[in-house]
Amino acid sequence: MNTLCFATNNAHKVAEIQALLGTNFVLQSLKDIGCEEELAETGTTLEANSLQKAQYLFDNYHVDCFADDTGLEVEALNGEPGVYSARYAGEQRDSLDNIHLLLTKLKGQVNRKARFRTVITLIQAGVITQFEGIVEGHIMEELKGTAGFGYDPIFVPNGYETTFAEMSMEEKGSISHRGRAFQKLITFLD
Ligand code: IMP
Repeated sequence: MNTLCFATNNAHKVAEIQALLGTNFVLQSLKDIGCEEELAETGTTLEANSLQKAQYLFDNYHVDCFADDTGLEVEALNGEPGVYSARYAGEQRDSLDNIHLLLTKLKGQVNRKARFRTVITLIQAGVITQFEGIVEGHIMEELKGTAGFGYDPIFVPNGYETTFAEMSMEEKGSISHRGRAFQKLITFLD
């Protein structure tokens, strides 16, 4: 039996990926391996941050593991907020503050193209592999919907007329950046 640590303490996320992995792997959370410190994310790219988290676990806890990092990349803002998505409007990491800052910066902007991008770094026996998931779309002028989190109320994926915050979790998961990146990880592990 292979064990694999997922660099998260979100039990819901662990259960969701465990269900997709079946019985070949046993997933552990940070708590399960005794890691209680906050993992540093000081890189300037999603690739660097997810690698930093996975490498820290591999080096200090000697476990096979994977870590993810996600950002919203807005074309007219040269890829902002990107790696700073969670703390775009400040260290309070407030989603509504972040959304309002983004809408202010995009006021009057015709090009509203944006994408969510997730990068997962897997380290198995010291071997590093990265997986990327992307969903392209655009930023609305106003918030719509109450489901989801983060920038969901202002992001409409291409081919849809509803925001992520108007979709069920299943529908969003089937087309989302995170869903796509994890699908690649699971296919690789299988
Ligand atoms: P994380 O790397 O998954 O923690 O994501 C970093 C930040 O990106 C979050 O705090 C959110 O602001 C934003 N974000 C990530 N995934 C999503 C999503 O699926 N919908 C909306 N916002 C997201």
